[in-house]
Amino acid sequence: MDQRKFVYDFEEGSKEMKTILGGKGAGLAEMTKIGLPVPPGFTISTEMCPEYLKVGDIPETLRNEIREHLARLEGKLGKKFGSAQNPLLVSVRSGAAVSMPGMMDTILNLGLNIETVEGLATLTGNPRFAWDSYRRFTQMYGNVVLGIEHNDFETILAEQKQLQGVTLDTDLSIDSLKALVQKYFALVQEKTGKPFPQDPMEQLLGAVGAVFRSWNTERAITYRKIEKIDGLIGTAVTVQSMVFGNMGSDSSTGVCFTRDNSTGAKHFSGEYLVNAQGEDVVAGIRTPKNIDEMETEMPETYRRLVEVSLLLEKHYRDMQDMEFTVERGKLFMLQTRNAKRSPVAAVKVAVDMVVEGLLTKEEAVMRVTPTQLDTLLHPQVDPQAKVQVIATAIPASPGAGYGKVIFESKKAAELGEAGEKVILVRQDTSPEDIDGISKAQATLTTRGGASAHAALVARGLGKPCVVGADQIKLNSAEKNFVANGVCVHEGDVITVNGTTGEVILGQAPMVDVEQTAELATLLGYADGIRRLGVRANADTPANAHKARAFGAEGIGLCRTERMFNDPERLPLMQELVIAGSLEERTPALEKLLPMQREDFEKILEAMDGFPVIIRLLDPPLHEFLPQMDRLTGEMAEAETAHDEARIAYLQKVMKRYNELKEFNPMIGFRGCRVGIVYPDIYQLQVRAIAEATAALVKRGLHPMPEIMLPLVGHVNEIKVLKPLVQEELDKVFKREGIKVAVKIGTMVEVPRACLTADEIAEYADFFSFGTNDLTQTTYAYSRDDAAGTFLPAYLESKILDVDPFQTIDRKGVGKLIRIAVVLGRQTNPGIEIGICGEQGGEADSIDFCHTSGLDYVSCSAPRVPIARLAAAQAVIKNRPAAS
Ligand code: ADP
Ligand code: MG
Ligand code: MG
Repeated sequence: MDQRKFVYDFEEGSKEMKTILGGKGAGLAEMTKIGLPVPPGFTISTEMCPEYLKVGDIPETLRNEIREHLARLEGKLGKKFGSAQNPLLVSVRSGAAVSMPGMMDTILNLGLNIETVEGLATLTGNPRFAWDSYRRFTQMYGNVVLGIEHNDFETILAEQKQLQGVTLDTDLSIDSLKALVQKYFALVQEKTGKPFPQDPMEQLLGAVGAVFRSWNTERAITYRKIEKIDGLIGTAVTVQSMVFGNMGSDSSTGVCFTRDNSTGAKHFSGEYLVNAQGEDVVAGIRTPKNIDEMETEMPETYRRLVEVSLLLEKHYRDMQDMEFTVERGKLFMLQTRNAKRSPVAAVKVAVDMVVEGLLTKEEAVMRVTPTQLDTLLHPQVDPQAKVQVIATAIPASPGAGYGKVIFESKKAAELGEAGEKVILVRQDTSPEDIDGISKAQATLTTRGGASAHAALVARGLGKPCVVGADQIKLNSAEKNFVANGVCVHEGDVITVNGTTGEVILGQAPMVDVEQTAELATLLGYADGIRRLGVRANADTPANAHKARAFGAEGIGLCRTERMFNDPERLPLMQELVIAGSLEERTPALEKLLPMQREDFEKILEAMDGFPVIIRLLDPPLHEFLPQMDRLTGEMAEAETAHDEARIAYLQKVMKRYNELKEFNPMIGFRGCRVGIVYPDIYQLQVRAIAEATAALVKRGLHPMPEIMLPLVGHVNEIKVLKPLVQEELDKVFKREGIKVAVKIGTMVEVPRACLTADEIAEYADFFSFGTNDLTQTTYAYSRDDAAGTFLPAYLESKILDVDPFQTIDRKGVGKLIRIAVVLGRQTNPGIEIGICGEQGGEADSIDFCHTSGLDYVSCSAPRVPIARLAAAQAVIKNRPAAS
């Protein structure tokens, strides 16, 4: 026989027993323990849930245990289950270890039958109340336990109200209530072929089973999936004696919060309903009153409620969300839990509680999740606003933006540049669309997943983005799209909500989020705790300034090629690429030099006193050339116009294009490979950096450039390039009469670099893990292709648990990183090591970087606050437990 204990009286539990009692059961036990007024009851362990679901029935041992606890409950209350004179009524409530509000079913007033209802009526002298309770019970039980459609009951209820000529449930007469119960019985008989159960014990066991079954209802499963609630075994079942908020005008029921859960303000808030029972407050049939009114309506009870709430908040050391019922003036607590709260409230409550002495700074830092911070830092659609949603897809980059719909990136970029608010709408995006994405308020694509190109770029830029909106039919040719029957033309205004994935017709009202004083305080706490440095990836002076405002301590990656993409410079770059010989290249180089110098000067100035890692040219050269189909088009035009000079030029470009064309550009002629074959390009860049540095030093500033060689995989590459870089630096510094030590290092992004890190570190002053490419090269996935082809399927079928381009794959890529850290420090103990891939701004990856001993993480400017918080949380989480 099974000797394990499955049932616990409230007196036997505590808040530490959440895993087996569920949040609700543990909360009720804890409140009982500290002497608050809780209607007595017991809880059946979550461990029973999988057993029940396996067998589909309640085992005999559990039945016996339930009977024992029920008998004890009867003793405590002096009432009897099924007694016509003094009936015990209970609620049967669900509750898992993690709160899933309203997801699983609760049954009230259980124990009522045709005899006990009369007993209750006599006992309370209130037959209306008794029959109202019975009516509710048959309906709830019929629906939840016997599986009859809720609607079937509602239809009968509506008919009865019409028959009696009333509109409110509360106006139903006793006779109507009695008639309703009989009609419900008939419905049950018709639908199930069996009468409505009259035996209270049968009712109870039926309800317990239904609660267990509700664990696997579709909405509960979906909820757990969306909320990423993993690894729970099931729900507990709490059986609790009923108290009644529907016993007249001195009775009520409600919910309350110790603080405002949307602003975090220290203001007792909530709502309540007089003469009502449990579900009525949430069901929305009657409009509840603001809890403030209770102060005048029931001053004594209100005072007691506030007192209990404050006590609970202190006890749990967190903001509480409570349910209560007042039965004839007496207050009962029915639930307490740590309140769900908006990101704004999360930050404010955490900081306020430190000031109030309730929390330590470390605890406060743990109270806000990186995701909450992420949402907080992006402008949002006003949650109160009524909006017309025309499609919902994957929320790929948080925040919201509105503007005119534009289907071409170039046009979006132009209009955006001119100060218009536009939304870029595309089937998907490619690197050519970056300009459009960055100048648009938001991007919407009809294809792709969370790691699609558009998503990655938008996140990097901190721009809102929704991807994979496959309900939208895009007619690029006619310049419109159709979503849910609504046709949106180019120039029409829509709002894209990257936090929720919603596409909204028109301009939705927005609420601005700013870095509040509380957020600055919280991040200050985090800075005091974290060990990792936090830098930003920034390519422009504007971004560098933004990064500093967010608290970045330097730039971990400044991509110089972004500077070449500027419309003014691209032709020069093309000239450079097209040129066959050094002599032909030189004029273009000379023209590019001052432009690069100016950029570097501004960026180094913005980051004065902080390190700035500048990566020398990385992409394949042919990326700067126009696409072949464009070239062919232009050639046709030139031929028609008999423009011989143009024809000759285009021929040259096409020839060069074909020479440089590669089967696998990602692993082709790029990175330091270009620097080795065409050293003059790298020399130019280094000269620009050195001259910018010199200019700033002369102005009395403290520029700290670091030069990074991309894609190094063999020690000989850095062995060749380092002296080249150093010579160029020395030449300029000597000429300018200054002395600045510039670190020269490598971007570690191919497996071979990790495996031979000891050799490379002999020459490198720093390593920066380029985890985007390192992930591509480790997995042999091409990121942009994978996102549109197999990656979604891999994630769906759980071949991959997480997208390795979002979160560092600890087992593979992570192992290479750890190897590189160990080997690198072996030969160069002082080497500076950081990360600059996308993952550098993601909490779990930051945790990995912390435990792997990196010196800093670098991420896009808007993610810097998140990185500061996550880096502090990593310290706290990974601290060995004190013994
Ligand atoms: P949920 O998880 O959906 O909130 P609950 O188990 O908390 O479900 O119960 C639903 C409603 O019924 C709540 O308003 C709750 O306060 C009320 N309720 C639950 N048990 C009792 C009881 N024993 N007496 C009176 N009201 C109850
Ligand atoms: Mg509840
Ligand atoms: Mg790279």
